[in-house]
Amino acid sequence: MAVSAAIFALIIAAAAFLAPRYLAQPVAEISYSDFTRELTQKKVQSVVIESGGLSVSLADRDVFVRMPNGLVSADYIERITASGAEVDFRKPGFDAAHMASIVVPIVLVLAVLAMLAIQTDFKPTSRWPKVVRSIPNRFDDVAGQEEAKAELQEVIAFLKDAGAFTKVGARIPRGLLMVGPPGTGKTLIAKALAGEAGVSFMAVSGSDFSAPLIGIAKGRVSKLFEQARKKAPCLIFIDEIDAIGRKRGGGGSAADREFEATLNQLLVEMDGFNTTAGVIVIGATNRVDVLDPALLRPGRFDRQVHIGLPDICGREAILNVHARNVRLTNGVSLASIAKGTPGFSGADLGNLINEAAIFAAREGAEEVTREHLEAARNKIIMGLERRSLVISDEERRLVAVHEAGHALCASLLPASDQVHSATIIPHGQALGLVMRLPEHDRFCIPVEKLEADLIVAMGGRAAEEVVFGPKKVTTGAASDIAHATNIVTRMVTEWGMSPAIGMVRVTRAGDNLPREVEQEIRRIIDDMYEAAKTCIKDNRDALDSLTEALLEHETIDGDEVRRIVHMQQARLAA
Ligand code: ADP
Ligand code: ZN
Repeated sequence: MAVSAAIFALIIAAAAFLAPRYLAQPVAEISYSDFTRELTQKKVQSVVIESGGLSVSLADRDVFVRMPNGLVSADYIERITASGAEVDFRKPGFDAAHMASIVVPIVLVLAVLAMLAIQTDFKPTSRWPKVVRSIPNRFDDVAGQEEAKAELQEVIAFLKDAGAFTKVGARIPRGLLMVGPPGTGKTLIAKALAGEAGVSFMAVSGSDFSAPLIGIAKGRVSKLFEQARKKAPCLIFIDEIDAIGRKRGGGGSAADREFEATLNQLLVEMDGFNTTAGVIVIGATNRVDVLDPALLRPGRFDRQVHIGLPDICGREAILNVHARNVRLTNGVSLASIAKGTPGFSGADLGNLINEAAIFAAREGAEEVTREHLEAARNKIIMGLERRSLVISDEERRLVAVHEAGHALCASLLPASDQVHSATIIPHGQALGLVMRLPEHDRFCIPVEKLEADLIVAMGGRAAEEVVFGPKKVTTGAASDIAHATNIVTRMVTEWGMSPAIGMVRVTRAGDNLPREVEQEIRRIIDDMYEAAKTCIKDNRDALDSLTEALLEHETIDGDEVRRIVHMQQARLAA
């Protein structure tokens, strides 16, 4: 604070010193024509040529004539002298007004920079990064996210006793990425991790590393790791790591160079720290694809833990965690609230409970009732709608039909990989997902399996068309189409699987494939799409049951998918 006061005083002083000179307008101005008239009437006593014009002494007063300097030629000076006036030049550099016009902006720029430095650097350096010693959070505070918690057990073991790992020569994790949408509990999980392991915790954000002055961001990275080594064992959590870790573009501007220097420093620090030091870095992001590949190499952020939006069961568990400190009316069912909150993140659900408690308190009620919870839910949905995160019922049904189509084809085609799970909870860019597990690694893939994969890929769009009609199909199939086109192209051009083209390797001429190859690709895709449509039409009941199951549970596992499909088939056979 003392520094900022001193700098402020300096600015005032500079302004006070310079302003009078800058603003002072010592003499009146006359026009050029007036001056010429005075000159021809020989009334001019002396002329001082200075920057921007002439200071002229007339018999009775001093005046100034504005005149571009370029006009004052030797001839012109001759003309003035001829009229009998004295001519002189102002010594350059002593023009107060001119000097002020240079100095004032410089002083202002310096002052602004100093202010920025105060704001962005001096303040944080005294308290940044903040180190928390004994974190109270535990995994119990994190509801759901069981897979993530299981994956992190190893990290806890390492933080508790790095020696046990190094003794047997195990390679120790240094960095891991938590990938998932905002509000899903990434920070919470990192904290709970530090709490479980009983280590120090430092949380910073990628945006802490965008400082306006050269070198500051890079210095902060060093400082962060220096602190971590001092406080080891320690967990560093970098939220929004994409802010420092996005792909280097190699642009030449100062900002680009500064950005690259910061990212390089992070890479150097990650490579450099001694693995026995017991420091682990956790980065959080919603988008791995924008990160610089160098960050993801072994020894850096080489593990990823996915943290997704919670499904119905997860949401109920999260509601229960947050309701621990709230008095609920007997018999309120958080399960039904969970059902009515698709698309909510953990943060939204925490918010919901809190809003409900506020509604209750405002009414002076003793307990939180179902009505309070529903009012809170509606309020939050409105907020989410403004952020356009809420999927409408119509869209949910579309996604459910699309995913049911994939799941149905996958479970009806023996050559396809088994369905592991199907979900209508958004994952990354996708609004839904059908996950399939290969039974064993395949090195030689038979054409039969490739075709099954293609029919499964087409199954999403085919279901949309069969259920809603050709005019209602959506953009949701873009990645399916890209995937299918890629496979078919390779079938035809690399793997000799098209009878029409035969066993030749086709190379591109420029951007285009030969016409008959393009036609063959199209024919195969069309065939597969027709096969998918037939499969769906023939099993329409199973598709509808799958759709309803997805709408109700949001995620269904492979066994459930197969149970539904086989039940409908048995009914058909009977
Ligand atoms: P992120 O870092 O992924 O943006 P946060 O960890 O900051 O999300 O989550 C914000 C808040 O949401 C947490 O403080 C917590 O109250 C709540 N929350 C999120 N996920 C969960 C969860 N799985 N269990 C309990 N609370 C959660
Ligand atoms: Zn799809």
